[in-house]
Amino acid sequence: MRPMPDSASPPPNAAPPLRVTVDLNRCQAYAQCCYAAPEHFALHGREALFYHPAPSAASRLDIERARVSCPVQAIQVEAIQVEAIQVEAIETEEPARHGR
Ligand code: SF4
Repeated sequence: MRPMPDSASPPPNAAPPLRVTVDLNRCQAYAQCCYAAPEHFALHGREALFYHPAPSAASRLDIERARVSCPVQAIQVEAIQVEAIQVEAIETEEPARHGR
């Protein structure tokens, strides 16, 4: 089971995307999330669950519907803190070189 491939980046002023994680130790492939939000969750075969790990905030209703429909509460949803990601990215960049 693995996340679905990432789609296009959201526009700069869009609401922050959601972070979706599925506890694969809990997931029993009941597929209720796939019925509740088929654009974001899909089962391939009997055990391979694909899902979008960072859907747009506009998808929140569908994602929440999927979360509450899961009989084993395997789906976690949270809003991504964009500022925290940007600060982390800046801190991991190499310092600029001056001179030679
Ligand atoms: S509803 Fe829950 S248990 Fe069923 S496939 Fe989705 S995440 Fe897995």
